[in-house]
Amino acid sequence: MHPELKTPCVEWFGNINNNGYGRICIKRQVQLAHRVSYCHHNNVNIRDIEHLVIRHRCDNPLCINPEHLEPGTRTDNARDRVERGRGHRGERTGGSLLREDEVRDIRKRAANGESQSSIAKLYGVTSSAIHYIVSRKNWAWLD
Ligand SMILES: [Zn+2]
Repeated sequence: MHPELKTPCVEWFGNINNNGYGRICIKRQVQLAHRVSYCHHNNVNIRDIEHLVIRHRCDNPLCINPEHLEPGTRTDNARDRVERGRGHRGERTGGSLLREDEVRDIRKRAANGESQSSIAKLYGVTSSAIHYIVSRKNWAWLD
């Protein structure tokens, strides 16, 4: 545990995404549990922190203890990941809730004729997110 942390981790016990982060559905949008926790305790709107990455000082992705969370930029987060030896291109905590293999699966399903709205429901993301992936406006670099 981080030496400055005075309280133990509070682990999310709900739904977990494939990156190991707790997730929660609010107003039909999937949000990361630790981001929701941060917003709740700091009284900010989750839309106002879209440009920020909420970092875990304790390095425990399931932790939602607000004392362990701090806002950072995407650059900070990328540096953290490199330092911790787990840099995954495309798998950002801030904007992207999907992993590379999921993006491939989404494209395969769409190619097989599955509707974008049913794929969206399956992954808990919006139809437009699926549209962007299938039309390669998002994740264009991924085969
Ligand atoms: Zn923690």
